[in-house]
Amino acid sequence: MIDRDKFGHCVKCHDYLLREVIDRGKVVLARTVDFDTEMLLLDDTSQMRVTICKKCKEELKDEDFPELMESVVAGWEWETDQLVADENKPQWTAVEKKEYMDRHRSLGVVTRPQGISKTEIGKRVKKFKEDKVKKVK
Ligand SMILES: [Zn+2]
Repeated sequence: MIDRDKFGHCVKCHDYLLREVIDRGKVVLARTVDFDTEMLLLDDTSQMRVTICKKCKEELKDEDFPELMESVVAGWEWETDQLVADENKPQWTAVEKKEYMDRHRSLGVVTRPQGISKTEIGKRVKKFKEDKVKKVK
């Protein structure tokens, strides 16, 4: 059982949503019928596309966002560890990793931005940040 976001896996239930198929003699990855994605708005106003299975997407509630983000951050933590360990990526040092994680660790999911106007997105991000400050206090 994995507890972090991982390439090709559902961000919530962590089911593997890819399968190997042979295409013109080569093994390639194809999406299973359960594969879906969801766009999430973060509180730095960036948008992040996550892989999610159809069932989890359907059941996804705003209350799930903190746990989802924990899984994503754990995924970044793991990925950046691999980058630091990779000798072919000398630009990724332990210091680089720490700075990257410090910038990204505290990000939160505000909402699903589809169909929401820019003004409304601005309002929600503002409110989210205010709530975040209140929680820290
Ligand atoms: Zn799922």
